[in-house]
Amino acid sequence: MNNCIFCKIISGDIPCDKVYEDDKILAFNDINPEAPVHFLVIPKKHMGSIKDLKEEDCSLLYHIIKKISDIAKDKGIDEKGYRIVNNIGNDGGQTVPHIHFHVLGGRELQWPPG
Ligand code: 5GP
Ligand code: ZN
Repeated sequence: MNNCIFCKIISGDIPCDKVYEDDKILAFNDINPEAPVHFLVIPKKHMGSIKDLKEEDCSLLYHIIKKISDIAKDKGIDEKGYRIVNNIGNDGGQTVPHIHFHVLGGRELQWPPG
């Protein structure tokens, strides 16, 4: 998508601090981290939010969750725990309209979120 920041990160037009990449997904550190570990996982296919998910995206979603679990292990946060966050729309706090999963860890997170 032409004007999408995350599509530009995928194409390499905007640099990122890459955590993991394969043909379907990209993981990179958030530019404004809210925790000692804070990375984002995005599909390379542009989708605005979970509202755009189709049945055929089932394996892509599984792949994302599985890789999050693997990366969390690599980063040493899986034993103490971490949080996956997906913001949707304005009230959900979504600022970038390309579906993304925040992964936060490395400190005890509060609940409920603000
Ligand atoms: P949202 O608020 O949409 O759930 O999350 C968007 C996230 O993307 C924010 O945490 C923000 O810091 C991050 N972000 C926005 N622009 C960039 C960028 O150019 N590079 C990186 N690495 N993160 C970004
Ligand atoms: Zn995009």
